[in-house]
Amino acid sequence: MDRHGHVDVVIVGGGAAGLFCALTAGQRGREVLVLDSSNKVGKKILMSGGGRCNFTNLHIEPENYISSNPHFVKSALNSYTEWDFIALVEKHGIAYHEKTIGQLFCDESSKQILEMLLTECEDADVQIKTRCQIGSINKDGDYYRLITSQGEVTCESVVIATGGLSIPTMGSSGFGYEVAEQFGLNVLDRSAALVPFTFSDHLKPLCERLAGLSVEVIMTTRGQSFREGLLFTHRGLSGPASLQISSYWAPGQSIEINLMPDHDASEYLLDAKANQGKSLVRSVLSRVLPKTLVGELEILFWRPYGQTPLAEIPDITLRQVGSYLSAWTLKPSGTEGYRTAEVTLRGVDTKHLSSKTMECLDHPGLFFIGEVVDVTGHLGGYNFQWAWSSGYVAGCTV
Ligand SMILES: Cc1cc2nc3c(=O)[nH]c(=O)nc-3n(C[C@H](O)[C@H](O)[C@H](O)COP(=O)(O)OP(=O)(O)OC[C@H]3O[C@@H](n4cnc5c(N)ncnc54)[C@H](O)[C@@H]3O)c2cc1C
Repeated sequence: MDRHGHVDVVIVGGGAAGLFCALTAGQRGREVLVLDSSNKVGKKILMSGGGRCNFTNLHIEPENYISSNPHFVKSALNSYTEWDFIALVEKHGIAYHEKTIGQLFCDESSKQILEMLLTECEDADVQIKTRCQIGSINKDGDYYRLITSQGEVTCESVVIATGGLSIPTMGSSGFGYEVAEQFGLNVLDRSAALVPFTFSDHLKPLCERLAGLSVEVIMTTRGQSFREGLLFTHRGLSGPASLQISSYWAPGQSIEINLMPDHDASEYLLDAKANQGKSLVRSVLSRVLPKTLVGELEILFWRPYGQTPLAEIPDITLRQVGSYLSAWTLKPSGTEGYRTAEVTLRGVDTKHLSSKTMECLDHPGLFFIGEVVDVTGHLGGYNFQWAWSSGYVAGCTV
């Protein structure tokens, strides 16, 4: 920064997107200043992926992103791909492995990803200031002027990379949305996503009793399905299947769970009736589902037949039980909200931004990147890839 407090580029928010934008712009020789209100940059990187950071996915596709403009992500994702990020990780000698299909995690710690970004920033002479509150951002002639708790700064380009609203204790703020509105950009209504479901009806005590139990299911809502693990918790339903589906769920809607994704549940029961007529429903289902879960399902779906051998249960009843098992329909009362959500759905309307550079169409020099934008990835490293890719294209332009 020169003695008049001027730099080429100010990046507000030193998270995944902000740091990636900073190192990219710095490598181009731009003088970059990152300002973060928190005491430390990259906190969400550190807590991500259970401490191992699921930093990208081998199968990044536009279909893995939710946005009011589904084409918006294409340009940035093509400009900086998962392979580019993997090459950077390898250049830094960070060992990684593929966990669930395509999801790449550090072998050791997410710290390595943050250290990698900070090393790249340092090599590119990026300045980083933490505990810096931004009072205001205004256009002043050819420049943007920021009034901050650490003084005034002017710049040619300002990049808003303040992330979403999830995990308020990690320094999240609605600041990026406020800046967008100040400059006349539309901000689409936000909600918590990749978040567990809660229940207030009879499901609540059922979830409590089954807390800790996990099963592979197909979960569906509003035409969208995911085959992943479902985890019962003391508060409701979690696990990858619930988190994925939460991004598509709307309050008041139902979710449907296929508890036997590898079987046609009705056929399974009718087969069992034909071949093991003396068995109980409970015992044949316990071969494919955890016993404790079967016990709870019995109370819900076939209690009057709990002690009846399969051979004596009418086919129509078994078909009915089968259809409950393959399409168990539940109505969540809500989600755990931003307190535990991994991401924020929606945000700054992409119609105001260039998909090639993330620059505002009506405000040259003003950029929005990362989670603050109306782009939300599926669970599995997609959100970090969006942060890297959107940060990269902005970093090439600022
Ligand atoms: C628990 C958890 C685990 C996750 N795990 C994964 C995972 O494994 N893989 C994956 O792809 N995604 C994961 N995510 C999502 C991922 O962390 C985010 O999508 C990603 O960090 C978004 O990057 P960002 O730079 O836009 O925002 P952030 O990384 O959130 O960074 C925003 C930065 O802006 C700063 N800031 C906020 N307000 C202000 C302000 N007013 N002034 C100055 N600075 C400000 C913050 O302090 C922060 O440093 C996880 C999220 C959570 C919460």
